[in-house]
Amino acid sequence: MELKEHIIDLPKKVYIGYDIIDNIKEYILSLNLSGPFLVVTGPLVRKIITDKIIENFKDENIEVVEVKIASIDEVNKVEEFAKSSKINTIIGVGGGNIIDVAKYVAYRIGKEFVSLPTAPSHDGITSPFASIKGLGKPTSVKAKGPIAIIADINVLASAPRRLINAGIGDTIGKITAVRDWQLAAKLRGEYYGDYTASLALMSAKHALSCAKILEKDVRAGVRVLTEALISSGVAMGMAGSTRPASGSEHLFAHAIEILYPDKALHGELVALGTIIMAYLHGINWKKIKKAMKKIGLPTKAKQLGIPDEIVIKALTIAHTIRPERYTILGDRGLTWEAAEKIAKETGVIE
Ligand code: ZN
Repeated sequence: MELKEHIIDLPKKVYIGYDIIDNIKEYILSLNLSGPFLVVTGPLVRKIITDKIIENFKDENIEVVEVKIASIDEVNKVEEFAKSSKINTIIGVGGGNIIDVAKYVAYRIGKEFVSLPTAPSHDGITSPFASIKGLGKPTSVKAKGPIAIIADINVLASAPRRLINAGIGDTIGKITAVRDWQLAAKLRGEYYGDYTASLALMSAKHALSCAKILEKDVRAGVRVLTEALISSGVAMGMAGSTRPASGSEHLFAHAIEILYPDKALHGELVALGTIIMAYLHGINWKKIKKAMKKIGLPTKAKQLGIPDEIVIKALTIAHTIRPERYTILGDRGLTWEAAEKIAKETGVIE
């Protein structure tokens, strides 16, 4: 399908390195971003990080607001505050939830957004999309893409290992997401970008390779992972949708999040879904599962405290989550019997 116009939304600058958080003010001012600045952060973000930023900006007009979860209530709260304080630039400092609120508010009020992730737990830290609870759908919505990403490897590498693994898990999902995209291009004539698809796949390859590096040197491994997450975010910016980064494995993850919320991390569920969807696509799911085990990612629902029936149910409803996104699950999804058989054969349930 030929498109009349295709808009690519990319960050202007990506700063990646060690202890670069100390240079934040210099980076932001060099991009001609102006105050008042608003730091959106959360209760779990180490105080030393926000203190450093505030110290850096002490001569500027800067405000700080804390959010707990990525919900519409938190978005409204931050938006109101940003408007009343006449904020010009929003800096999201934290994990996925905080970054999601920051970029969605920036989108709603038409201001610039800078992403300063503190955990490499998923590719939302770099993409122009956000997942917000309470908008009536579990999938992502359009948000403001970051004008700059400040990835301080020392900060990211001190995140708990479970969050680092979840970031690898989210990236592994690109293997099946790209397959789904190719299928939709063939069967539905959907727009498909070869270069963008390759970029998404490359991020999966790098994330998998970072597992080995992590064993020897956490910081070096996290750097590779962070670059992979940024590439995946860039792929979404290039496609103008989450298509290259989110397919049937994400639909499965979203279905579990609806049926059995707050049990597992997004990236853990995506990785679990990738095993099953790789099986459906007829690609080497055993290899993916083996790699996940090595990394320390759960390969059984039980390890995440998710009952077998929830997995089966999620597989039968996943195709309904986002009907316009065509995947290997087709229009009618899996039957209960097929879902149970596949989940058992791949060892996701017992
Ligand atoms: Zn994801």
